[in-house]
This record gives sequence, C-alpha cells and structure tokens, in this order.
Amino acid sequence: MSDVKYHRIVLKLSGEALAGDQKFGINPPEIKLVAKELKQVYESGVQVAIVVGGGNMWRGVTGEQLGMERAQADYIGMLGTIMNALSLQDALESVGVPTRVQTSIEMRQIAEPYIRRRAIRHLEKGRVVIFAGGTGSPYFSTDTTAALRAAEINADAILMGKNGVDGVYSADPNKDASAVKFDHLTHMDVLEKHLHVMDSTASSLSMDNHIPLVVFNFNKAGNILKAVSGESIGTTIEGD
Ligand code: UDP
Repeated sequence: MSDVKYHRIVLKLSGEALAGDQKFGINPPEIKLVAKELKQVYESGVQVAIVVGGGNMWRGVTGEQLGMERAQADYIGMLGTIMNALSLQDALESVGVPTRVQTSIEMRQIAEPYIRRRAIRHLEKGRVVIFAGGTGSPYFSTDTTAALRAAEINADAILMGKNGVDGVYSADPNKDASAVKFDHLTHMDVLEKHLHVMDSTASSLSMDNHIPLVVFNFNKAGNILKAVSGESIGTTIEGD
C-alpha cells in the first residue's frame, strides 16, 4: 500500500474490455482475465470503484442513427451497462474479490441503488464498488459517469484502460506513422487539441474538479497495478 500513488481510484472499463476479440456481447473468459488483473490491485489495498461502459451491447447514438428517439436509445445503453456490471461482479467474486453493484436506475432485486455515502463505506470496508447504469440520464456517457463518480467519492484519480493503445497520441498511431505519444497533458490541452480522450463533458468535469486521468494500455498484464503505483506507462492528464 505504501508504494501506490493513488489510494482510491475510479477505473473506467469500456464495454469493449469485456467483449474480447468478438468485440460484441459478454465474453466470460475475457472478463475472468480482467477480474484477475483487478484482484492484484485490490490486494495492494487500493480502494477500487469501477464504472462500466456498455458499448459492447448498444450505443444510444447508433440507435438514433437508425431512427430511434435518442433518449429511449440511451436508456437501452444504460441497461447494457448493468448487464456488464453483473458479469464483472460474477467474475470478481469467483476470484475472491468482494463487490457491490450500485445502479443509478433502481433495480433493487439485483443491485443496490447508487448512494454516495454507502459507496464510500463499501470502499472503506475493502469492497470493490461497481457503478452501473451510467449517470442514469440520457445524453451522457460512461466517461462522464466516471468523472462524476470520481468527484463524488473523492477519488485520487480516474484510470482509463485503452485496448491496445498505450496512451494519448497526437493522431491515431494505427493510421498515422508520425503520431507522437504524450506523457503528460493538461485537461485543457485535451479539450483544445480535440484529442478525444474522453468526451468533452467528462474532460471539463475532471478539469473543474482537479481529478487526474491516467490513460494506459489495458491489454498488458500488470498494467492496472502499475498505473495505480504511478509508473509512467501511459499518459497522465492533470491540471488545467
Ligand atoms: N448512456 C447514457 N447515459 C449515461 C451513460 C451511458 O445514456 O450516463 C448510454 C449511451 O447510450 C451510451 C451507452 O449507454 O452509448 C453505453 O455507454 P458508453 O457508450 O459510455 O460505453 P463505452 O463506450 O464505455 O463502452
């Protein structure tokens, strides 16, 4: 515990991280791998809250493009994040990590409702808290949820694992050979340079509440623990 940099974190897990190579749906063996990685962080004594995305199931924007009403499509997306949260809870508990799921949309039979003080208490008692259902409102993202919950529970940092990319680049490194990786950025840099690390609502919220964001490659074993320890394995975004 003494050699970690961040003692309470919000980890943003995109839906993609739970889908594996198939890129869609829920892939239990893949989620088990994620759970084993998280167990290392949990065992280091760090308080871990997780915000799960839902892009492996459904995105509201896609529904809108296909003719649905946006808000209705977004509610479907929020329900997707709850399915992901239950899958992750299952995997974490199977490797011996105690968890609680809290949903922003009440579903009392399967999870607790989101109650800020209760979430903090769970973290203090050594339980991993999984925040599901996004903010509970359409037109937002789970990135914004991560920034919001991080501010609410007073997290030291938001950790954002990316699939196969080891940080923030000036351009897409898979398409542009001249792309340069940034080790440090400010939230304002991200907004001004349109780097699309998170959506702009999430970046502004993180900036206004002085929450650092660490972007790293989620697919390398041991990386979550390294990010928590403050090792420079990706891009750190802080300050305004
Ligand atoms: N969503 C929403 N409000 C929120 C969070 C999420 O409406 O506060 C919906 C939205 O439709 C979004 C979907 O849930 O497309 C899945 O979330 P997101 O796209 O953030 O998932 P990720 O890309 O992280 O997998």
